[in-house]
Amino acid sequence: MRCPPKALPAIDPERCTGCGWCVAVCAPHVLSLQTQGWEKRSHLDDAAACTGCALCAVRCPFGAIAMERQPGRVQPVG
Ligand code: SF4
Ligand code: SF4
Repeated sequence: MRCPPKALPAIDPERCTGCGWCVAVCAPHVLSLQTQGWEKRSHLDDAAACTGCALCAVRCPFGAIAMERQPGRVQPVG
């Protein structure tokens, strides 16, 4: 059984340009681009399947993703 992620990506819609780099680097494919009016924004579709790897945050050229710790989501020790 997989441990829940320690942190999840929080996407700032004001900074996101919809470039799609985060979607491209996400191995479990839990991010997608969603249309909002005439624009596209990244969206976390499946938080439970996110590994918390933070690759999306590292890859985002616009600093639109911050990894945020989730209350109560602590990985078990041992
Ligand atoms: S890489 Fe950053 S700017 Fe590009 S779609 Fe993802 S969150 Fe938005
Ligand atoms: S933290 Fe990793 S698994 Fe989660 S959305 Fe970002 S790239 Fe995908």
